[in-house]
Amino acid sequence: MSHPNETLRDIYDEVLRRNAGEAEFHQAALEVLESLETVVTKHPEYTDSQVIRRLVEPERQIIFRVPWVDDRGVVQVNRGFRVQYSSALGPFKGGIRFHPSVNLGIVKFLGFEQIFKNSLTGLPIGGGKGGSDFDPKGRSTGEVMRFCQSFMTELHRHLGEYTDVPAGDIGVGGREIGYLFGQYKRITNRYESGVFTGKGLSWGGSRVRTEATGYGTVYFVDEMLKVRGESFDGKRVLVSGSGNVAIYAIEKVHQLGGIVIGCSDSGGYVHDEAGIDVELLKEVKDVRRGRISEYADLRPSASFVAQGSLWDLPCDIALPCATQNELDGDHAATLIRGGVSIVAEGANMPCTRVALQAFAEAGVRCAPGKAANAGGVATSALEMQQNAARDSWSFEHTEERLEEIMRGIHDRCLSTADEYGLPGNYAAGANIAGFIKVADAMLALGVI
Ligand code: NDP
Repeated sequence: MSHPNETLRDIYDEVLRRNAGEAEFHQAALEVLESLETVVTKHPEYTDSQVIRRLVEPERQIIFRVPWVDDRGVVQVNRGFRVQYSSALGPFKGGIRFHPSVNLGIVKFLGFEQIFKNSLTGLPIGGGKGGSDFDPKGRSTGEVMRFCQSFMTELHRHLGEYTDVPAGDIGVGGREIGYLFGQYKRITNRYESGVFTGKGLSWGGSRVRTEATGYGTVYFVDEMLKVRGESFDGKRVLVSGSGNVAIYAIEKVHQLGGIVIGCSDSGGYVHDEAGIDVELLKEVKDVRRGRISEYADLRPSASFVAQGSLWDLPCDIALPCATQNELDGDHAATLIRGGVSIVAEGANMPCTRVALQAFAEAGVRCAPGKAANAGGVATSALEMQQNAARDSWSFEHTEERLEEIMRGIHDRCLSTADEYGLPGNYAAGANIAGFIKVADAMLALGVI
């Protein structure tokens, strides 16, 4: 830790000791603990009551076997996780990720971040996250369905609209949520819409949920630009990834007058000076479930680059929307040389600590994922509200609520950073504002 407060240092040492080998979780915990130094100086009650020590330890961690049969009749075994991190503000809430890189440390880092993100939205939701090392890539629809059914056969006993409410994440979109919710409904014999968010519109979903994370990230950047008296007009933007978050970030940038000149997947990136054609991108990624290289095959103005990095392209604004630690110190240096002035994390923790340090030194404004990508979970909470009221809001109304929530999160980050003597530091503002709300609830609820 940079300026260690003794208690925070002890807590961090304990995190390292208790969670050996979980590098991403260590990184996420350190980032938050460092921001809390000024808070604990002002408010010793948070350390005296051990709120922080309690908060870094999840309320419950579930690890389970997921056996299923592939199309050849061969039994496959994956591992499932759900980390129920904090229910101080509401039921555990956070997505499910299917990706071969998933392990307990990844789920724990995501769940920990989710506590502060959900708190920042101002809505009554706790934090949690889940997933499996199952790789949906190359699997048939039948295989994905059988895997989801087996996963939910175990997980269902830990869920409930007042207990734990999952949603999607990497590798889990509308199709997977359908299979997971279907199996939950079948086992429990309850049509409990509020137990899952990201549902299809005809079976309890909310308008704008699909678009919410990407749109929300761009709304957040729009607020950052307004603070400087600027707008998206004519800005050159890079968006990494080409999944749910990336696609709708690209769509919203274009609606607000910017131009996205590149996006990517794990196989490489496309450079398209004419601006990414988002309808073609949706066709390639969502309908055909294809690769980003196919986009370049179909678009004369685009080229596909298998080697190298998307971040080599000069831009004004960078939106990393793929995965954790995808943007490192070298990428940051290249982006700074290329003139970047704003970075907003559509993904969770996509920038390494070295990259964030480089951006800070160069005066590049950075929006942390727990603030910039909170539009997804915020709209999930709006989906829960609609389910509870047996209601269905219009696209316009839901998008207005999303925009208003993102503006609120932006302003809360800035005003909290100011209050704690760290003007313009969005990351510290997000961590502190998110923390205080959860910590106060924990103090009020007794030793839990
Ligand atoms: P998707 O599965 O829809 O898309 C993920 C994209 O990122 C794909 O283009 C994928 O490429 C790429 N990607 C994944 N892993 C890697 C990797 N190791 N290297 C390079 N590219 C990679 O996921 P989402 O868009 O839903 O999620 C993206 C990020 O946003 C994640 O960090 C997630 O936690 C975060 N997030 C998502 C929310 C949501 O509502 N969906 C809410 C808040 C945050 P490929 O297909 O080649 O793997």
